[in-house]
Amino acid sequence: MGSLGQAGRFARTTMAAALDVVLPPRCLACGDMVAESGALCGDCWSDLTFLGDPCCLQCGYPFELDFGEPVRCGACLAKPPAYDRARAAFAYEDPIRSMVISLKHADRTDLVPGLARWLTRAAGPLIDDADLVTPVPLHPKRLRQRRFNQAAMLAQALSRSSGVPYASMLIRRRRDTRSQGHLSPEARRRNVEHAFRIDEPDKVAGRRILLVDDVLTTGATLEACATNLKRAGAARVDAVTLARVIRPTAVSSSDETAPLS
Ligand SMILES: [Zn+2]
Ligand SMILES: [Zn+2]
Repeated sequence: MGSLGQAGRFARTTMAAALDVVLPPRCLACGDMVAESGALCGDCWSDLTFLGDPCCLQCGYPFELDFGEPVRCGACLAKPPAYDRARAAFAYEDPIRSMVISLKHADRTDLVPGLARWLTRAAGPLIDDADLVTPVPLHPKRLRQRRFNQAAMLAQALSRSSGVPYASMLIRRRRDTRSQGHLSPEARRRNVEHAFRIDEPDKVAGRRILLVDDVLTTGATLEACATNLKRAGAARVDAVTLARVIRPTAVSSSDETAPLS
């Protein structure tokens, strides 16, 4: 039996080596040949816009100047978000933008390990303050179409690399919020807020939750999830996304321009 298992492993290893010869490693973003699998080519690498300090203490919006102490941006001072802190690995631009789109709409789940490494790096300052990692849920209809939730795959990878337990289905999505352009901003905010539900508040009460999503567009989805989690008694709600849209002006409260999530 043991020798059969070994033979199987040997066959698989040989097969992987053979595939590397037949299919040389490709850049995760553009498909050009690279030296090792799971990497970006030099051109795509140089196009990445990493986010980090200095940034808004709360929403993570990048600052051009380091104020020498933690400060909030104007938007967070004017209307503090329901979440405590949000951080993102990258600005939502190519090549990350095309990678996220390939993941969601072309089933490129092979991108997850590489993307998750960057997400873990961005989550660094938040992970020590988290009891649970949980994804922003997809609407069940969308989940049936796509068959996977990219945020859940990223959250699971983050849980594995950090050791912080993963909680699935902590937040439920009960409404699709795509077409709400006809609503007033306030009605839109309420619509998004009511699109989520916490079924088991006892799993949330007193816990520090780290929410995971692929892209922060307007912040409305994270705001709605955080509002629901805080209402259910969460002690802290932080959020980490792979990328975020960087707008020169204040964050709007509309989610209508969000990419299909
Ligand atoms: Zn490339
Ligand atoms: Zn801010």
